[in-house]
Amino acid sequence: MAVYTLPELPYDYAALEPHISAKIMELHHSKHHKAYVDGANTALEKMAEAREKGDFGTIGKLEKDLAFNLGGHLNHSVFWKNMAPDAGGEPEGDIADAIADSFGSFEAFKKQFDGVATSIQGSGWAVLAHDSVSGRLVTFQMYDQQNSVPVGTLPLLQLDMWEHAFYLDYLNVKADYVKAWWNLVNWQNVNSRLSSLKGVEIV
Ligand code: MN
Repeated sequence: MAVYTLPELPYDYAALEPHISAKIMELHHSKHHKAYVDGANTALEKMAEAREKGDFGTIGKLEKDLAFNLGGHLNHSVFWKNMAPDAGGEPEGDIADAIADSFGSFEAFKKQFDGVATSIQGSGWAVLAHDSVSGRLVTFQMYDQQNSVPVGTLPLLQLDMWEHAFYLDYLNVKADYVKAWWNLVNWQNVNSRLSSLKGVEIV
């Protein structure tokens, strides 16, 4: 029995057009996201085999495989819920207050996030997260599916900046993809994520 499973999207593949095409959504969910789910399950299965054999010669590689693939599974699961048709605009409620407190204003946050997203070197994600140490919000660039993540942060809003996320629609023009994506941000989802994460105390 698989530990990780591919979640259903909360909308149709074509629901995010014209900002993200149905073709990208179908490939991205049914092929890319599925590969991460399968990869994470495979890593766990191989770790179980290693324990049965008492042979941990490959454990270092398996840990890297788990980190990469579980990252891919979590990141995409959050990303799908972070978007909705006919969304975008400015946040309201607690998330709006937290953004203003942490970044000065929504406009300042948006410019910072644009900069974070468009300056990623190679494959990665732009992330708005709750920092469980300070209780504030932070942005960061996550490389690949798991690298350069400040420890103790939990994701609120994630934007996939891997080329597979935009190349069919926007070719190399990352800024146009990011600009279109703002029209899809489901602030209600980001707000409810903040509600459930902000009580988490790590230190
Ligand atoms: Mn992706």
